[in-house]
Amino acid sequence: MLLGLSKIIDCPGASVSFTTSVDLSDLQYGNTFPVTEPVHAEGTVRNTAGVLVMTGKVHTTIHGVCDRCAGEFHRDVEIPIDVVLVEELSNEDSEDEWVFPLEAEKADLEEIVRTVFVLNLDSKLLCSPECKGLCCRCGKNLNDGPCSCEKELDPRFAALRQLLDK
Ligand SMILES: [Zn+2]
Ligand SMILES: [Zn+2]
Repeated sequence: MLLGLSKIIDCPGASVSFTTSVDLSDLQYGNTFPVTEPVHAEGTVRNTAGVLVMTGKVHTTIHGVCDRCAGEFHRDVEIPIDVVLVEELSNEDSEDEWVFPLEAEKADLEEIVRTVFVLNLDSKLLCSPECKGLCCRCGKNLNDGPCSCEKELDPRFAALRQLLDK
């Protein structure tokens, strides 16, 4: 969806709000496509002293496979939008991933939502930030409780223990 901004482009203090939904189901993560639900975005573009600032949020529910424990999960994600829109990208701007060019005084919401989403999603897809993963020896999912593998002692501690036992 294109958001027309000609009304506010020359009018400091003016703003335009927007809501949109973007289909990011083609977004690949490892071997999975976790964004099966529409990604909703809403916010405002405000002319702040001549600079077009877009703020708002992107939210959806992702359905993924955990990189650490291989369990399937779904999780709500909400990502803030805070970007700058410019009529033309300068060389400096093009290195800044939070600056987007307008096209004929319109903002390409899909492009912005996609970029904000991709740049903010963690590089690893985890069922939870505290995921304990699988035991590297027996393969048990440690989120379900500890496994019965003996903890291997660090050889330095083993030597220390021998000394203490004497
Ligand atoms: Zn996990
Ligand atoms: Zn184990």
